[in-house]
This record gives sequence, C-alpha cells and structure tokens, in this order.
Amino acid sequence: MSGPLLKVENLTKHYPLGAGFLKKTIPVVRAVADVSFSVAAGETLCIVGESGCGKSTVARLLMRLVKPTSGRVLIDETDIAVLKAHELRAWRRRMQMVFQDPYSSLNPRLTAGQIITEPVENWERLSRKQRKALAAELLRKVGMSPQMMDRLPSELSGGQRQRLGIARALALNPSLIIADEAVSALDVSVQAQILNLLLDLQQQIGIAFIFISHDLSVVEHIGHRVAVMYLGRIVELAACEALFANPVHPYTEALIAAAPVPDPTRVRLEAPVQGEVPSPINPPSGCAFHPRCPHAVNRCRIDVPRLVPMADGRAVACHVRAPDTDFPAQPSATATRSLTAG
Ligand code: ADP
Ligand code: MG
Repeated sequence: MSGPLLKVENLTKHYPLGAGFLKKTIPVVRAVADVSFSVAAGETLCIVGESGCGKSTVARLLMRLVKPTSGRVLIDETDIAVLKAHELRAWRRRMQMVFQDPYSSLNPRLTAGQIITEPVENWERLSRKQRKALAAELLRKVGMSPQMMDRLPSELSGGQRQRLGIARALALNPSLIIADEAVSALDVSVQAQILNLLLDLQQQIGIAFIFISHDLSVVEHIGHRVAVMYLGRIVELAACEALFANPVHPYTEALIAAAPVPDPTRVRLEAPVQGEVPSPINPPSGCAFHPRCPHAVNRCRIDVPRLVPMADGRAVACHVRAPDTDFPAQPSATATRSLTAG
C-alpha cells in the first residue's frame, strides 16, 4: 500500500446546544473546524493543544463514534461515511484506542488475561490454552510478566494498568492506535516508561500512532510530526524536531515557552501564552488566537488564516508568520458581521 494509511479532509464538528425549540438559531460548540492531516503507515502523529481544543473529538470522528458536520475521513481512499456496517467493524478492528484512565476503561471484574484477550474473542473462539498463550504473549509485548494474567485491575499499579490498556489495543494487530491522553494521569517516571514502550512497539511492529496530549513536553521524543490545535483548528503542523527547534506559530512558541524544559541548552522563548482560552461557542473572529497573541495585526481580527505550506514542509496558519500570498484577503462571515455590528 503506497498512499497514507489515513487521511482527514476539512473535518468539522459542531455540537448543537439544546433543541432550539423557540429560538431560531441554536448555539453550537465549534469543537473541530476544518481539520486536515494524514497519517502514514508506521508513523506517529501527535495532536497537542490545551484542554477543550477538540483533540478527543478528532479521535471520536476518526473512530466514527460521532459523525462529522462536514469533511471526510478516508482510509485507503475510501470515505468511512460510506462503509457498510461490517466494513466499519473491520476498520475499527484495524484502529484501536488507548484512553487516559485505564481504570475506568478496564472491566474491574475481569482478570488481566481476560481483559487483553477479550478483543480477539469478539472475533474468534479461543481454547483455554490458546487464550493463555495469547495473554502471555501480549503481556510480554508490553513488558509485563505472564504471571500477571490472573490479577484484577485493582491489584495493579497505574503504569501496569496502562500497559494492560496498550496490550488490549495490540491484541488485534491494528495498523493504528489512537492514544488519547494515555500518559496524562501517570507520574512523570511512569510516563517515561510508557512512552518508551510505545516507541519500542513502533520500532518492533511498525504500528502507526495518533498520540494525543495537552502536554507538549511529552510528545517531543515520540512524535514524527506534531499538529498543534487551538480552538478546534490546526494552527501548525510540522516535523517534531523542526517544531521544537523552531516554532513558527506564536501559539506553538508560547506552548513551548510554557513547557518545563529539562534541556538547559534550549533557548527560552518569549513570554508564555497569556489569558484564558476563549469559548468554542463564540470563538473570536479571524484568527481565534488573536486576543492572546502579542503579534496580532488588523488582518488577524478579520480573516481566518489558512494553513499555509512552508519551505521546510511544515504548514502554519498565521497571517504574520506565514502570510498567505496565494489567496487575497477574504473576511470570514463572523468577522464581517462583527465589523458591521461594531
Ligand atoms: P479536548 O479533548 O481537546 O480537551 P474535546 O474534543 O473533548 O477537547 O472538546 C472540544 C469542545 O467540544 C469542548 O468545548 C467541549 O466542551 C465540547 N464538546 C465535546 N463533546 C461535546 C458534546 N457531546 N456536546 C457538546 N459539546 C461537546
Ligand atoms: Mg480530550
């Protein structure tokens, strides 16, 4: 297979709030807006951004747990919206999720062995012997002793439970694992162990990852590429090294400046981001980051910046740092309204 494993085109998700029985217009949460990216086989794409910026909604759209308002998710050039039930089931088999809180996502009454072999048993019957062998193999893959297979989740540490969540995701040999804040609840030392496990797995079995985190510092060593999201949109998409060495979008710059840096040789950037994240129900006009941006100019209040491809292969949505020379200024509908109203 040559093309990307997964391609996302202009994905948008609005959640309407309430039924709007009497009101003409229902307020909507603009959770995800015009998000496009692709993931190659064996690649790790990280999605980072502050809480509420739409990361988990992107994951849910990819799994088709929610339907997009507009835009498409393509696997092998096929829109998952047109898949029949059995094809969607097959796609979900190729794509597995690991969640932040393994405790609530693991059945507390099942043993570790039952938990990690369950996905396979949803597809085929296993004999006792096969089940034991599979459980042992999966536990070894995630660095745990096969003796752990009889333990209950409550008898395991947080790190072990997260290893179990990963073992369960690996059970069906997926081509892609989506890890949504998979290490966020863990202590820093355990975090590093789990990140190393993911790196090892990728090197050994060439699995692709979409690694989602609100914490930019955890993605530095595991990502091939990083998409930085702000209020539902990707503002910068770059190779991991390039992003950390030379952030272009002022928001990326601020996130890196705010992240704890264990490397004293790295230059500290300008002041970290100021102020609160605005509401996705009524996002600011133009570039949604403009009220918090120290570099904002007039155009930033009016036009939504497009992700502009740059010479080094990254893409940046910023009128100041990545001026869009191909396209003339086009005021967005909201900006026009607020300008005429004001
Ligand atoms: P993140 O994972 O980056 O923290 P989410 O994707 O969970 O962000 O949420 C993005 C935005 O969408 C948030 O403002 C959140 O409150 C809103 N949201 C998420 N799910 C729903 C839903 N089912 N109904 C209404 N709003 C939602
Ligand atoms: Mg989330």
